[in-house]
Amino acid sequence: MSASRQHPDTLPNGLSWADRAACRGYDLELFFSEAAANVAYVKRICKRCPVREECLAEGLRAEDGCRYGIYGGLTPAERTELAAESLRWQAKELLQAPPKPRTGRKPAKCGTRSAYQRHVKNGEPIDDACRAANTAADNRLRRTGTTKVLR
Ligand code: SF4
Ligand SMILES: [Zn+2]
Repeated sequence: MSASRQHPDTLPNGLSWADRAACRGYDLELFFSEAAANVAYVKRICKRCPVREECLAEGLRAEDGCRYGIYGGLTPAERTELAAESLRWQAKELLQAPPKPRTGRKPAKCGTRSAYQRHVKNGEPIDDACRAANTAADNRLRRTGTTKVLR
């Protein structure tokens, strides 16, 4: 099985979250089909999946994860858009926000790691944009040793 066919349903047992995947036992081909009816069907499975978050992170992390297969209920195009949106927010922040004093700062906008951390701290619900930004930052940290977007 090539890397592009990796999917939670194919991950080794013992990877605790994959064991809880709602897609276990379903035909794997469905998750790589681009037919609208199949995509809608898979999205309904993902919707009730308890490990959707972990799955989406995996889909964003996988080297070709933005090109093949549905992860976390998002199609490749939707994941690409999510990642791009998160990068746009970060770029905007970098370009627009002059360094400000720590006090009296406006809370970070959604779609940023800071906003994600604030949600966690305040026990607020976490939106997809913030979740994606945090995952993207984690991945950059792992790859480059910094959460900064390298230019
Ligand atoms: S979110 Fe969807 S693809 Fe991911 S593990 Fe759950 S059911 Fe499978
Ligand atoms: Zn948010």
